[in-house]
Amino acid sequence: MGEATLAMVPSGFLWKRTLLQRGMIAAAIFLAGSISFVPRIAAQGPLALAAARNASNAPARPKLVVLLVVDQMRGDYVDKFLGQWTGGLKRLVEEGAWFRDAAYPYAATETCVGHATISTGAFPATHGMVANAWWDRKDQKMVTCTADPDPNVKNIGYAGATPQGADTAWRMAVPSFAEELKFQTSGATRIVTFSLKARAAITMAGHKADAATWFDGGAWVTSSPYGTLPFIEEQAKSHPAKADFGKTWSLSLPESAYWYGEKALGAVPPGGWDLTFPHALRGKSGVGEPDPDFYNHWASSPYADTALTELAEKTVDALNLGKAAGTDFLAVSYSTVDYVGHAFGPRSREIQDILVRLDKDLGTLFAHLDAKVGRGNYVVALTADHGVVPVPEDMQRTGADAGLLHLPELQKRIEKALEAFKYPKPAVASVSGSDIYFAPSVYDKLQHDPAAMQAVLDAALEQPGVAAVYRAEELRDRPATQSLMHRAFAYGYFPGRSGDLFILPKPYWLLDGTPLGTPRAYGTGHGVPYNYDQHVPVLLMGFGIQPGQYFQPITPADIAPTFAALCGITLSSRDGHVLADALMKPRSFFSRPRTAAAQAAKTNP
Ligand SMILES: [Zn+2]
Repeated sequence: MGEATLAMVPSGFLWKRTLLQRGMIAAAIFLAGSISFVPRIAAQGPLALAAARNASNAPARPKLVVLLVVDQMRGDYVDKFLGQWTGGLKRLVEEGAWFRDAAYPYAATETCVGHATISTGAFPATHGMVANAWWDRKDQKMVTCTADPDPNVKNIGYAGATPQGADTAWRMAVPSFAEELKFQTSGATRIVTFSLKARAAITMAGHKADAATWFDGGAWVTSSPYGTLPFIEEQAKSHPAKADFGKTWSLSLPESAYWYGEKALGAVPPGGWDLTFPHALRGKSGVGEPDPDFYNHWASSPYADTALTELAEKTVDALNLGKAAGTDFLAVSYSTVDYVGHAFGPRSREIQDILVRLDKDLGTLFAHLDAKVGRGNYVVALTADHGVVPVPEDMQRTGADAGLLHLPELQKRIEKALEAFKYPKPAVASVSGSDIYFAPSVYDKLQHDPAAMQAVLDAALEQPGVAAVYRAEELRDRPATQSLMHRAFAYGYFPGRSGDLFILPKPYWLLDGTPLGTPRAYGTGHGVPYNYDQHVPVLLMGFGIQPGQYFQPITPADIAPTFAALCGITLSSRDGHVLADALMKPRSFFSRPRTAAAQAAKTNP
């Protein structure tokens, strides 16, 4: 940067001066640059100004890093509904940096994968969280991405709850940004995360944290590697989810404001709800005590988003986030948009309304952060873990090719194709999303049996909705390829965990694992390498961020490296990149100084 500054001084000016004088000239120009930098910061408030003044002694750092993930928020929701927002989502667009062409580059656009990518700045080929759940070849069973087999690890319930299981980040192969921040800055960082989902709260936090809290069976839950905090216990006791029993979710805007009809075509609402507003939170029975259906209703309603927002605000107050020596980390993953989207689809009044409510909640959260941490002292990123495809029956109305790629039927076809080749039965151990896993030793044998392999590939390609099949050996070590689809599967390939074969569906074909003869229990889904699943919002706001709209293609893996740059730390992976265009820079470092003081410094040293 110093060289860039001196290069602006007229040529032939410096060479006669002593080194000391050169230093003074550089300092004068640096100060001039600082002066031109101040007015932009001043617009953000007195605390930011103080931070800018302190920057001359030590590099300024944000006091708090806030990560917000909206589960299943499509990138185009911002374009479509921005005009109806008045709160936090609107503020992020207007005061922040809006990356309009952000998309995951890999195929497995699922919750655990997306959150681990956001949190680590790495792709699944690096962080190893290849799906929400995968086939464990050693134990010959499905495992979730957070299931921890260590007998010493246990889930812990707040407010007297006794949850099952043991969930941690032990399968995440690299540390999160938050862990690195704490480790590299001598432990001064407090790390607190919340979500309705374990796979979101845990991956955002990392392997250890001051608190990582999720919602399970009506209770707030954590596990033994994470701490429990008294204020979460207090909140769990005083405002449990069941306190919302009997409330009703009604439309919050005039009916004419909604883009779509009253009933979303092909939608499958949660048990006990129908396709029309209002939606009452009363469980299946409609009377009496909260039942599992009530908790599904609650998790699919604006009340769950509000509960997470309240927990985030309580954290700021109870821990005095942003007031200690280090940079603190607070993350919230809002799960409700995902539950609503799976049930009602992206073209529904429910999706539009839940975003109006979330916009208000985020407005409240940012106002709280302004008051307690100081406007300009914190940096916030909002993104999503994946998008979603329209409900197939709805898409078919356009006349376009769309449908359900039925995975149990695909599995049957492959078994049948191998009958002629005398393979052990069943030859297929599991079909999970795009990944096909063969029984032990079957795939090794297939690799040396071209006729049988071809029969398997032909059988898979005959299944309606299949566009292509990739083999594991084509994906190892990220081979160079011009095919975005081939690359997408390679970016998600983690040896040992990923499947043996990988199914690419045709566009608008939904991978459907519903068992034969069972009605589909959801409206739509996600998890493939098409833009409707890959394209998500990336919005940054606050400390160090240059507001504006940015159109270069980026990925959500770029968020963690950008946070790392603002905090002066290094992450292990270079899958993601610093979003340099959206970072504020003292102008004089990079271009001709424009203020009168800067001109004076340049011409009269
Ligand atoms: Zn998700």
